[in-house]
Amino acid sequence: MTADRSEQLKTLLPPLAMARLQSLRLADGVATLVLDVAGLDGLERDRLEVAVKDVLRGESDVNEVRVAMTADKVSRRIIAVGSGKGGVGKSTVSANLAVALARMGRKVGLVDADIYGPSQARLLANEGQKPVATSEKKLVPVPSPWGVPVLSMAHLAQPGQAIAWRGPMAGNALSQLIDADWGDAELLVVDLPPGTGDVQLTMMQRFKPAGAVIVSTPQDLALMDATRAISLFDQADVPVIGVVENMAGYACPHCGEVSDPFGAGGAQAAAKTMGHAFLGRIPLELSIREDSDAGKPPAAGDGPQAQPFADIARRVATWLDNRAGADRQVSEAGARV
Ligand code: ADP
Repeated sequence: MTADRSEQLKTLLPPLAMARLQSLRLADGVATLVLDVAGLDGLERDRLEVAVKDVLRGESDVNEVRVAMTADKVSRRIIAVGSGKGGVGKSTVSANLAVALARMGRKVGLVDADIYGPSQARLLANEGQKPVATSEKKLVPVPSPWGVPVLSMAHLAQPGQAIAWRGPMAGNALSQLIDADWGDAELLVVDLPPGTGDVQLTMMQRFKPAGAVIVSTPQDLALMDATRAISLFDQADVPVIGVVENMAGYACPHCGEVSDPFGAGGAQAAAKTMGHAFLGRIPLELSIREDSDAGKPPAAGDGPQAQPFADIARRVATWLDNRAGADRQVSEAGARV
C-alpha cells in the first residue's frame, strides 16, 4: 500500500528532518515532502534537503524526491532588480522603489548586492553606520531615515577596502545579507550587480525571487543587454514583473524643452516584444542625480520627481498582490534522483 509505504519512508528520515516534517507522500515513484524550515538559514535548509534526498535516494521504489519548504512565519518575498549593464540607474530605481513601497505602507528592506559598486548606503543616507549582529550571528539591517532598513555588500567590507567578491564568497556574502534579521519586513528589494554572474546564480538557486524588475535606458545597446538579463530570469523561472525605462527624455532646466538623448520608448517597445509588462518611465533629470547623491531619494519627496517612482511602486505592489494567492508560501525544490 502506498500510504503504508509513505509511513515507512518517514521512519528512514534523519531526526532533524522528522522534527520538521509536515507531510510525506509517495505516488508514482515520486516522494514529495513538505518541511517547515522556519528559522533555518539558507545553508541549513540546503543541508536538510541534501540529507533527506540522500536517504530516500537509496530506496528502489523512489525515482524522484521533491522537497517543498514552507517559508518563515513572515512570508517574505524578494523583488530582484536587475539590468544588463551598469550605469543605467538600477541602484537609483532599487532605492526609490523601496522607498515608494514603504510610503505605501509596505514593510520593505533593501539589500545592496551590487558587488561592483555598492551605493545604497549613500543613496539612503546611512553611510558610515555598521550593522550589528544578533546572538544567533545574524546581521541586523541598518535603519535609514526613509523607513527602509538596508544591508549592503559595503557593510561587509572594511571602510575604504576594495571589494573583490568572487565565486562562492560572493554567494555567501549575499546569503548573509538576505538571511539577516529583517524583522517584520514582508518585501526585500535586492539591487543585483549588472549582468549575469555568481551573485545572480546564488540568488536564483538559494533565494528564489518572487519577481524581477529590469531597468534599462532606451538605448539599443542597453536594451540588448537588458534582454540578456531578462532571459536569465526566464531560464530560472523567475517571473519578470516588468521593465523600467530610465533616463528617458531630458527636460532642459533652463528652457524646459524635452529632448531624448538616449531615444525614448525603446524599453517599452522591447518589453512588449518580449511579452513583459512596462512599469514606467523615469526622465533624465539633474535633480534626480543631485538628490540621490545627497542621500535624499526623490521618491521620498513631494516634488514631481516622486511621481514616476510612486507609479512604478504601485504597479509592482499590484502585481505582488495579484500573485499573492498563487505565489508560494511554499517554495518548491525538486530534483531527480
Ligand atoms: P547603476 O546602479 O545601474 O549602475 P546608478 O543608479 O548608480 O546606476 O546610476 C548611475 C548614475 O546615474 C548615478 O549618478 C545616478 O544618480 C544617475 N542617475 C540615475 N538615474 C537618473 C535619472 N533618471 N536622472 C538623472 N540621473 C540619474
